[in-house]
Amino acid sequence: MKLSREHVIELLKEGKRIDGRSLLDPRPIQMEVGVVERAEGSAIVAMGKTRVLCVVRGPMECVPSYLADPEKAVLDVAYRMATFSTEERKSPSPSRREIELSKVIREALEPALMLDRYPRMMIRVYCLVLQADGGTRTASINAASMALAYAGIPMRDLVASVAVGYYDGKILVDLNAAEDDICADIPMAMMPAYNKITLIQADHIFPVDKIGDVLKVGVNAMKKIYELQRETLKKRYIDIARELGGE
Ligand code: ADP
Repeated sequence: MKLSREHVIELLKEGKRIDGRSLLDPRPIQMEVGVVERAEGSAIVAMGKTRVLCVVRGPMECVPSYLADPEKAVLDVAYRMATFSTEERKSPSPSRREIELSKVIREALEPALMLDRYPRMMIRVYCLVLQADGGTRTASINAASMALAYAGIPMRDLVASVAVGYYDGKILVDLNAAEDDICADIPMAMMPAYNKITLIQADHIFPVDKIGDVLKVGVNAMKKIYELQRETLKKRYIDIARELGGE
C-alpha cells in the first residue's frame, strides 16, 4: 500500500512509522557474504526493502596505468542503481548522483583499508542497488566493507553505516524512501572498534543542538549493524572450515 506524504507526516508527528517500527529501530537487516563465486569478495545486504549487491575485484594491475599510485593501491568504487531498482525505470547511464555517491562510499571506506600494502595496484568495488527504498549508500557501505574483508584485503576495522533522520523534534533511525523525502537525512559511517566516524552528511535542515543526539542514535545503530557484519563473516568462515573438513 502506498501511503500519502501527509499520512507519513501525521504518523511521524505521533512518533510512529509507516512500517510499524519504533523511532530508534533499524529496519530488518539481512546479510550474506561470498555470493559471487568468481569475485575475490562479495556481499549482499538488505535493509528493509533496500537491497544492494557488492562485488570486490583485486588487488589487480591498475588500469588505466597512469592512475597508479607508487605509495598505495587505488580504490575504485562504482555505485550504480539497476534499471529495475526503482518504481519507474532508472536510466542505465550513470547519473551525477551515482558518480557523487561512488566518491562518498569510497571516502567512507578508505580510512579502514591498508591500501599502502599494495602500491601501484587497484582494488575495484562495485555496488549495485537491486532495489531502492532509502539508505542505498549506507547499505552499499555495509556491503562493501564486508566484501572487502571477505576478499582478504587488510583492514583496520569493518565500516558500519546508517542514516539518521530528524523531523519535528523527533530523531529516527534508518530512513526508508518515504521518510527520506520528509526528514532531514543524516547518513553516517564509522569504524566501531576505533570509535571513529568516517562519513557524516546532512541533507535538509535540523537544529544545531540536536547534532549530539543524532550522532548518539546513529552510533548505537551502527554498533548493532557492526555486530551483524562480524557474525555474518564469522559464520561464513566456520561454514568454509566445515566444508574443508578442517574442524
Ligand atoms: P540514499 O539511497 O543513500 O538514501 P538519496 O537520499 O539520494 O540516497 O535517495 C533516497 C532514495 O530516493 C533512494 O534510496 C531511492 O529509494 C530514491 N531514489 C534515488 N534516486 C532515484 C531515482 N533516480 N529514481 C527513483 N528513485 C530514486
